[in-house]
Amino acid sequence: MRVAVTGGGGFLGSHLCEALLRRGDSVVCLDNFSTSDPANIAHLLSNPSFELQQTDVSVSVEVTGHVEAVAHLASPASPPDYLRQPLETLAVGSRGTENALRLARRHGARFVLASTSEIYGDPLVHPQDETYWGNVNPIGPRSVYDESKRYAEAVTAAYHRAYHVNVGIARIFNTYGPRMRPHDGRVVSSFITQALTGEPLTVYGDGKQTRSFCFVDDLVRGLVALLDSSEMGPFNLGNPAERTVSELAEIVLEMTGSASEVQYHPLPEDDPVRRRPVITRAREVLGWEPEVDVTEGLRLTIAYFGARPAELGVSAAA
Ligand code: NAD
Ligand code: UDP
Repeated sequence: MRVAVTGGGGFLGSHLCEALLRRGDSVVCLDNFSTSDPANIAHLLSNPSFELQQTDVSVSVEVTGHVEAVAHLASPASPPDYLRQPLETLAVGSRGTENALRLARRHGARFVLASTSEIYGDPLVHPQDETYWGNVNPIGPRSVYDESKRYAEAVTAAYHRAYHVNVGIARIFNTYGPRMRPHDGRVVSSFITQALTGEPLTVYGDGKQTRSFCFVDDLVRGLVALLDSSEMGPFNLGNPAERTVSELAEIVLEMTGSASEVQYHPLPEDDPVRRRPVITRAREVLGWEPEVDVTEGLRLTIAYFGARPAELGVSAAA
């Protein structure tokens, strides 16, 4: 099929484009590269089944020719990125999602939304299944992301009810892997970059907060399964193996053999205390579950970062 992928130049989007091309689909990638490096998809430009449109999807989403599916991934995703671009984040979650839904409606196409575990906010229920409605501060600094994704889910559900658009919602939990930007500020990329350059690992708060980390290949398999289905969900897509941030720091130090120290910094406002997905629904309905454990996933990610010392910064030789 021919698939429009908004945010297709980003970390997850570029892996999704590759996965679709690998199985014979055609891809139209729409991206403004506001939080990504065009190098992510440079190797795809010579593929006749791949088209790139450099465009702001908050303004419009137009594609020449027919598409059978729309995967809407465009949005800043790393906290430093969305805190730096608060209004752009709200715009792409609202107007960008509406524009992408309109494209799907015009084409009678399947629509998949990349939503997030952040819609659960700082959850009062643990672990989180899809019936939980969340605990989000609507005016806190993270709200530009959380609330725009909650709106994106709402408008996606409304397009389904009002216009019978064939929609699916993926609630993605923390995902890591090759092509994360070394300095994107997310915890996995930050710790690996710091460990490889001999800089201190910056643990926020006391490091006892938890996240559940999913390797990118697993996540992309889940997105493809959702694209191929006609299920709405929402579906939690993530790896339920939960770890504290301090544990992650220790694992990264051990796996890189780094002598970096651990430094403690204040916890950002409204930083969720714990997060772990219940993935029963995805397992039962989509037949999906993660396969890559954190040791293997980190090994592949560390190897990717290690092969790019110039991008890691100053003391890469340390
Ligand atoms: P990313 O920043 O690498 O990718 C996002 C892409 O969207 C970038 O290429 C960026 O340039 C593009 N983009 C942003 N605003 C745009 C606009 N207005 N017009 C066109 N393109 C625009 O982040 P990612 O980790 O690949 O995240 C992809 C999607 O998955 C996002 O919607 C994010 O909210 C969601 N998600 C990711 C994670 C994760 O852990 N990686 C977790 C939950 C949800
Ligand atoms: N974090 C940290 N050090 C960093 C970056 C992040 O301790 O250098 C913490 C952050 O406060 C949060 C967790 O790691 O508790 C995950 O942060 P990330 O930005 O990767 O994802 P999110 O907060 O969106 O889940």
